[in-house]
Amino acid sequence: MPAPKPKTAKKTVSNESKLAKLGLRTDMDLVLHLPMRYEDETKVVSIREACLHGGMASQVEGVVTKCEVGFKPRRQLLVTLADETGNLLLRFMNFYGSQVKQLAEGTRVRARGELKHAFFGAEMVHPGYKVVNEGAPLPTVLTPVYPSGEGLSQPILRRAISDAMKRIDWQDTLPPALIEDMRLSDFEPAVRLLHYPPQEVDESALSDRSHPAWVRMKFDELLAQQLSLKRAQRARRSKGAAALPVTGALSDAFLATLPFKLTGAQARVLGEIRADLRHPYPMQRLLQGDVGSGKTVVAALAATQAIDSGFQAALMAPTEILADQHFRKIAAWMEPLGVTVAWLTGSLKKKDKLAAQALIESGQAQLVIGTHALIQDAVQFCKLGLVIVDEQHRFGVGQRLTLRNKGDAEAVPHQLMMSATPIPRTLAMTYYADLEVSVIDELPPGRSPIVTRSIDQNRRDEVIERVYAAALEGRQIYWVCPLIEESEALQLQTATETHAMLAEALPDLQVGLVHGRMKAAEKQEVMDGFSSGRIHVLVATTVIEVGVDVPNASLMVIEHAERFGLSQLHQLRGRVGRGSAASACLLLYQGPLGGVARQRLMTMRETTDGFEIARKDLEIRGPGEFLGARQSGQAMLRFADLETDQWLVDQARDVAHDLLHATSADSAATVEAHLARWLGGREEFLKV
Ligand code: ADP
Ligand code: MG
Repeated sequence: MPAPKPKTAKKTVSNESKLAKLGLRTDMDLVLHLPMRYEDETKVVSIREACLHGGMASQVEGVVTKCEVGFKPRRQLLVTLADETGNLLLRFMNFYGSQVKQLAEGTRVRARGELKHAFFGAEMVHPGYKVVNEGAPLPTVLTPVYPSGEGLSQPILRRAISDAMKRIDWQDTLPPALIEDMRLSDFEPAVRLLHYPPQEVDESALSDRSHPAWVRMKFDELLAQQLSLKRAQRARRSKGAAALPVTGALSDAFLATLPFKLTGAQARVLGEIRADLRHPYPMQRLLQGDVGSGKTVVAALAATQAIDSGFQAALMAPTEILADQHFRKIAAWMEPLGVTVAWLTGSLKKKDKLAAQALIESGQAQLVIGTHALIQDAVQFCKLGLVIVDEQHRFGVGQRLTLRNKGDAEAVPHQLMMSATPIPRTLAMTYYADLEVSVIDELPPGRSPIVTRSIDQNRRDEVIERVYAAALEGRQIYWVCPLIEESEALQLQTATETHAMLAEALPDLQVGLVHGRMKAAEKQEVMDGFSSGRIHVLVATTVIEVGVDVPNASLMVIEHAERFGLSQLHQLRGRVGRGSAASACLLLYQGPLGGVARQRLMTMRETTDGFEIARKDLEIRGPGEFLGARQSGQAMLRFADLETDQWLVDQARDVAHDLLHATSADSAATVEAHLARWLGGREEFLKV
């Protein structure tokens, strides 16, 4: 029994809802909730023996000879347990009144914990314990310890799981031939072994998950994932989308008015997108390109194809600043060509919002640009042919799904997602099996590389001088305020103070301030001032992190750079180096630096290549964090590890392919049964 928490007058939450919080809703969910480790309660040793291997967990059995509540140095329950070989003190810092009665003198108790030699002799602090009768049989299997959540004790979980095991249908979902071919364990014995391993099991194989029982679980899980992804791909292909075959007047005129020529990489990915849009089934394509590689213009060109073909296109961006910037830029390109571009964000006045919605619904607006406001119920498109999501990793799976569902029921719109965050190959292969990827691997010409330096913040004065010198040369400067994760209020305060400090230190310059709490119109005004060159130095919080494009800005100072993650630093730095002026990024840090922070700053100094940075990031952080639960919905793998289990991923992919291509009714039934077991109702999330 784990240490009980002191009683509180909290409302009682039902066990079901606590289980549901862990994602355990069905019997099968419970059965597949596997232990993270085990406790060995199969043996009892004498108190004297336990004293010999002090420091290790052991289980003893004895009779209570004394049970009292002590008060020094604080209230605690002290129970003395004795067997033929000696005495042992059990110390409970938190306890219920009922425990005092339960552990009354004369009670026989099995206690399990780490034995320590304290001042008054041997003791266990907060041991697990059980009241037993003399001669009560010992368990013959290891006791599972499950991942748990708030207020959910191990006994409750254990009971719920063992009850569920009595109710489920154990039928193996895989055909016997496959199991034999792949030398897999059978499902039921594998699951039973993982919950209740026999004493003699190879515990190291359990803990590193190389035991055949674990391999079966991981294979099943990966197979379900692959089946589901492949099926989603098929379903998508079988679903109709409006073909958008025309690249006519608008596309040509647009290309002709662009002040630059597309890079080779831009032209190539545009070709890939154009080909997809001609198909009568929906495109699902990720456009990946480092910050500054010029994704926006490619997206705009994709939109012209939709418009030329008589359909609407929508572009959704994660922040108002970014959406606004897209709107201005793209509207400036397209409106002279006779395109109606609508603008929709949450901060619009009611009247303007309604007007925009009317334009969208009537079909008059050919291109719609905005934020999350685009996915609200009130927004109805007339003929949505193409959906573009910028900085797609900033959106949840559900949000992307909602936008895609704004098409009519018959024809799903084509979908183009954009991101500067490269997805490592292994992740792309599994999570994104249903996604085509286009990569812009070349920057527009004439960019000069960004020089990055890290500077101790004691040398702030020198940095301010540098800012001044840069401004005198007609360049513009971003000054990014430190990230303060714990408190937005504090972050705001720092931004305001930094602004005041710089305004005072640089009296001849215009210093602007932009942060997340400002009203949209205020933000707008400041960003305009900066874009037009009226503001020389822009003090900003991370609201400028994504997408912002002011080519004349060529110096960036990032305060407390040691607090930022690699990809964030890279995104921020990507705001400079967009014009032809030599650009620099100064990473101010407060020493002494920890190992990880030092590594990050070094990586930033050494490379500006987003792929290289993503690789380093993956190395430092590991793949779990890379995806984030938001990205993957409920589809996150629980058991398999994409790195170490690569061989299983490959096998699962092959088996999934075979099962889906076999024509027998048996294979179809296998697929259904397997997906039902492993994904339950969660399949929808994989389809976005
Ligand atoms: P990102 O890929 O980070 O979204 P943007 O689309 O914002 O990059 O483009 C960065 C800058 O490069 C913009 O100012 C854009 O107008 C410019 N640009 C895009 N393509 C080219 C090109 N082929 N030649 C020159 N400049 C370009
Ligand atoms: Mg962009």
